[in-house]
Amino acid sequence: MTDCIFCKIINGQLPAKKVYQDELTCAFWDARPASPIHILIVPRHHIPTLNDVPEGDNILAHLGNVAKKIARDLGVDKSGYRFFINVNRGGGQVVYHLHAHLVAGNDVGMLFIKAAVACAVIWRKLVKLFRRQHN
Ligand code: AMP
Ligand code: ZN
Repeated sequence: MTDCIFCKIINGQLPAKKVYQDELTCAFWDARPASPIHILIVPRHHIPTLNDVPEGDNILAHLGNVAKKIARDLGVDKSGYRFFINVNRGGGQVVYHLHAHLVAGNDVGMLFIKAAVACAVIWRKLVKLFRRQHN
């Protein structure tokens, strides 16, 4: 499709940091990543949304297999990642060329939050203990 940015990336008319390509798909880094790792896995042929995938088309299984391979290559298959498809406006879809998101790498952020909460709990306990001893 001439006006589609993902078709243009696939055809090489627009730049992207491609990480994987095969006869059915192309995967590249998201231009505005929501996490340290944010890859888009895109079918080569233009399908607007998940709703437009014909019954029996194996493209969804293929997107999943590509995600598994990329996650393995990036070393996040064991630690974990999210794999999702936004569908239409209410589902958060902005680019109307079917694509799956592979998102990972927020572990450090979560670890930091958990550590901060643990520190706050310990601090409150210490303050209580200190007050009890001095009353
Ligand atoms: P969605 O909201 O599911 O349609 O996701 C579209 C995604 O495409 C967003 O995460 C955008 O940051 C990303 N995006 C838009 N334009 C580009 C581009 N030229 N190159 C790479 N990613 C893009
Ligand atoms: Zn397209």
